[in-house]
Amino acid sequence: MGLMDNKFVIVTGAASARGLGKATAQLFAEQGATVAILDLDAAAAEAAAADLGEGHRGLACDVTDKAACEAAARDLEGEWGRIDVLVNNAGITQPLKFMEIAPENYEAVLDVNLRGTLYMSQAVVPGMRARKYGSIVNLSSVSAQRGGGIFGGPHYSAAKAGVLGLTKAMARELAPDNVRVNAICPGFIATDITAGKLTPEMHEQILADIPMGRAGAASDVAGCALFLGSDLSAYCTGTEVDVNGGSLIH
Ligand code: NAD
Repeated sequence: MGLMDNKFVIVTGAASARGLGKATAQLFAEQGATVAILDLDAAAAEAAAADLGEGHRGLACDVTDKAACEAAARDLEGEWGRIDVLVNNAGITQPLKFMEIAPENYEAVLDVNLRGTLYMSQAVVPGMRARKYGSIVNLSSVSAQRGGGIFGGPHYSAAKAGVLGLTKAMARELAPDNVRVNAICPGFIATDITAGKLTPEMHEQILADIPMGRAGAASDVAGCALFLGSDLSAYCTGTEVDVNGGSLIH
């Protein structure tokens, strides 16, 4: 018996080997879910899905492309009959200062983190509403809450703050149809998003600000995603859950 037996789950941006999406997909699969990994590259998505075991899917889907999101959702609904959980995990960041943000930086970071969350959600919500069941989990960031401070620039903070607003507005609108929408705000988690990009001094400084004294692990975020995706959180919607080792205690 798993928490996610007979459940069908999409995780975007889950092909990154050490990423939060892959760890989340893995945990959902261990709990009995059938999972689809969506990412930019089809072969990478398929390989990541194969790592989860048999019966999972890997699909190419650029979440900034509305037609691609629709196509992926129709493909999976056709095969599975329904989608129960969507984890909007695809994201990119850039370590720019305020005055360095060029139009193309703004577009890239806002598009993947915020527009992608909107488009992928729009692709699955009609089916969830019709079945009166669904959980959407959006990846925001501690950067939204404290204006950066780890790695991402102001445009990343703005995009992730946008994700929080979108989450709450979606939660309000979709609640009558029993479609729940919640956000996770990870703190500093060791993944490829920052791998090799932090100096030893930056690393030390970041850890000094974390009461638990360690970076988060991808599995720490996956556990929260499982809680929010499963019926354990059946009465939670519009929440933002901090997974940050106590970084925001004040
Ligand atoms: P990662 O870089 O390891 O993985 C991100 C994945 O998203 C990659 O596989 C990439 O190919 C995919 N992706 C990028 N653009 C895409 C697009 N347009 N369509 C589909 N897929 C796309 O990152 P991660 O550290 O695992 O981060 C996962 C999420 O968590 C992101 O939204 C990130 O902003 C957020 N987050 C991470 C941290 C952290 O410390 N690692 C902290 C707070 C929030």
